[in-house]
Amino acid sequence: MSKTKECPGCAMDVDTDAEICPICQYEFPRQSRAAQMTIFFLIILMLLWILF
Ligand SMILES: [Zn+2]
Repeated sequence: MSKTKECPGCAMDVDTDAEICPICQYEFPRQSRAAQMTIFFLIILMLLWILF
């Protein structure tokens, strides 16, 4: 049993690991852990900048 996600392009269920929809070729945005950490640090920096 594999997990699926709904494609915003064609509303079909595709594999969660798929980077491109096999039906409509929609490219799923990749959110890597590194990108998430970068956003997290930017938010922290902004909070510090606002507070101090
Ligand atoms: Zn699709």
